[in-house]
Amino acid sequence: MSTPPPLSIWARNISPSPTLAVDAKAKALQAAGEDVCSFAAGEPDFDTPEHIKEACIVALKAGKTKYAPTPGIEPLRQAIVERYAAEYGLKAAVGQVVVSPGGKFNCYLGILATCSPGDEVIIPAPYWVSYPEMVKLAGATPKFVLCDDRTGFKLTPAQLEAAITPKTRLLVINSPSNPTGAVYTRAELEAIVAVALKHNLYILSDEMYEHLIYDGAKPTCIATFSPEVEARTITVAGFSKTYAMTGWRIGTTVAPLPIAKAIAELQSQMSSNVTTFAQYGALAALKEKEKTRAALATMLTAFDRRRKILHAGLNNIPGVNCLLAQGAFYLFPNVSSFGLKDMEFCNRLLETEKVAAVPGSAFGAEGYLRLSYATSDAIIAKGLERLGRFCANLKR
Ligand SMILES: *Cc1c(COP(=O)(O)O)cnc(C)c1O
Repeated sequence: MSTPPPLSIWARNISPSPTLAVDAKAKALQAAGEDVCSFAAGEPDFDTPEHIKEACIVALKAGKTKYAPTPGIEPLRQAIVERYAAEYGLKAAVGQVVVSPGGKFNCYLGILATCSPGDEVIIPAPYWVSYPEMVKLAGATPKFVLCDDRTGFKLTPAQLEAAITPKTRLLVINSPSNPTGAVYTRAELEAIVAVALKHNLYILSDEMYEHLIYDGAKPTCIATFSPEVEARTITVAGFSKTYAMTGWRIGTTVAPLPIAKAIAELQSQMSSNVTTFAQYGALAALKEKEKTRAALATMLTAFDRRRKILHAGLNNIPGVNCLLAQGAFYLFPNVSSFGLKDMEFCNRLLETEKVAAVPGSAFGAEGYLRLSYATSDAIIAKGLERLGRFCANLKR
């Protein structure tokens, strides 16, 4: 009897998500009765606001349980158009909006719509773990540009210029950033986008954390820069992080009409519409503005407090150096002074002190940790104490 043939190159080349792996390991230790301090979470520790859940329940009971148009229910797409106009002055038509099953899928479809085998995609590192895998699944090649803490984890125009080849098709920009929390200023983005424009690239702007921003920093919607920029920019955002709706699986794309149409057609063959009644919950998030604003304000107050506590606590540990990031719910301290590979650092930290952190190398930047502060003040305090003890016991 012969063995079955090998799996496809897609199956063999995929790397499983390292962030989900660390989170799973921490949860397994917890389930086994260990007192784990986890900084591995990639989602808000708040529940979805009540009015959003209620609208979904009402829709479900009213029979919104059938197929809907692939790019999303009309009122939700309209509400997305209105929010971009109100928040950024972006004038998009309903046809330019595609609602997809999670911002992750919006990103993937944006890459599939613009990249072919042989194309190169520039991904600044540290990067969100899914971009390289998505690029490979499109048959294209990821090209990484390391942006370390000396530039605040931000790509410079000169670095971009140097990375572009005749094969470069797409630039991925993620601000506020997962994993570093870095927020580019409008001026910084304008300078980068000018280079992308000069070389005729598409831009995938992942603005998933646009509303999780502190110190009075402002989110930037790249597509508003000029008509030329808008014509080549795919804007991805969604409901997961802003409204604590990660399990709902609802993300959004706003793109030039030909790209939006291509994305909707790809989606029509790969997944169809986002769960119909879930879209009514998302609609309530955008329509019941006062309730949503209040829920977001509560989350932001907690995130901002924890961000400052974690940042101060990290920099109090000899050998740890951490920038104060202005967005998302992550800090990305540099631990390279301890002379350990970050993977080894994280493994030993989890084993000896039961503290879970994701190594920077998972995001293409060796020597750092990603710590999520989407967890309680008590866990942050206890975790910092343990991390301090762990570091004190390491020889530098
Ligand atoms: C969480 C996240 C997404 C997508 O989230 P979904 O849960 O798929 O909506 C996209 N980009 C970044 C950088 C993220 O952290």
